[in-house]
Amino acid sequence: MNGITIALSKGRIFDETLPLLAAAGIVPEENPEHSRKLIIATTLAHVRLIIVRASDVPTYVQHGAADLGVAGKDVLLEHGGAGLYQPLDLQIARCRMMVATREGFDYENAVRQGARLRVATKYLKTAREHFAAKGVHVDLIKLYGSMELAPLVGLAEAIVDLVSSGDTLKANRLVAVESIQDISSRLVVNQAALKLKRESLDPVLATLKSAVEQTS
Ligand code: ATP
Ligand code: MG
Repeated sequence: MNGITIALSKGRIFDETLPLLAAAGIVPEENPEHSRKLIIATTLAHVRLIIVRASDVPTYVQHGAADLGVAGKDVLLEHGGAGLYQPLDLQIARCRMMVATREGFDYENAVRQGARLRVATKYLKTAREHFAAKGVHVDLIKLYGSMELAPLVGLAEAIVDLVSSGDTLKANRLVAVESIQDISSRLVVNQAALKLKRESLDPVLATLKSAVEQTS
């Protein structure tokens, strides 16, 4: 049996992937929230987990340092998906990529007037493509987090960010003005591993697929 390495990020993706892995008999021997270990053994001797930053998951899988991974569609859009198969929408970590502004900012009018809009985001590629498709001129400002702050302190008129409940927007008197895309997490598979490790990977992929179908 070939060894399998699965790349996961801590937090919601780890938490929501756990029940799906359990269906395939894969239970981590340690909780990454409490352990400092970055490589975690599982109840299956030939399966291990590696804990990486959410936005690094596609990179580990693309280069074959992990065979499988779980990555948000947001992260995959920015990465571009080269070298990856995306066979399964796991339907977890669901949210929406949205444009938001301060309450009272007339977004429709700003767009109609053709004024240049300053947009702060960590999702540069997604934002660039979205506004280009609408023919809206934007100056993109790259941030690494806390995008909600940008319109409040005059860094930008708008942000592109993930929204689920909308509570963070509301707490900062921002409003979502446009939806860009529905987001959920996908299983990603290294293309070479899919061929070379078929015997170990196929059963895991099949079990994950039926676990997703049962929960959704
Ligand atoms: P970090 O917080 O370390 O900078 P991150 O923000 O990418 O990294 P998370 O906040 O754990 O990490 O998000 C991981 C993934 O979960 C995202 O890539 C996205 O797909 C999804 N996600 C992010 N925010 C939400 C949300 N509010 N609701 C549901 N899913 C979300
Ligand atoms: Mg985060």
